[in-house]
Amino acid sequence: MKHACHYASRLASDSLDRPLTLWERIRLKLHLSICNNCKNCDNNLKLMRQINELMRINDYGHIRLSEQQLKHLHQALDSDTKA
Ligand SMILES: [Zn+2]
Repeated sequence: MKHACHYASRLASDSLDRPLTLWERIRLKLHLSICNNCKNCDNNLKLMRQINELMRINDYGHIRLSEQQLKHLHQALDSDTKA
């Protein structure tokens, strides 16, 4: 992995946990505009975050999704596979 890709993937991961600085956002967007590998990684990170937010464990230890959440998840997965 190139140094620029390593830095971009770290920024993409950090962006899920904290707001990036203006300079970090610019560097990440610039890199994602020219690197498909990192763009795919960024999309996958966002998708995993969405899935994590959609899934809630109920009192019985089962994951329960509403119909709307299932529809949203399917749409996210479909758009990711078409990208
Ligand atoms: Zn890259």
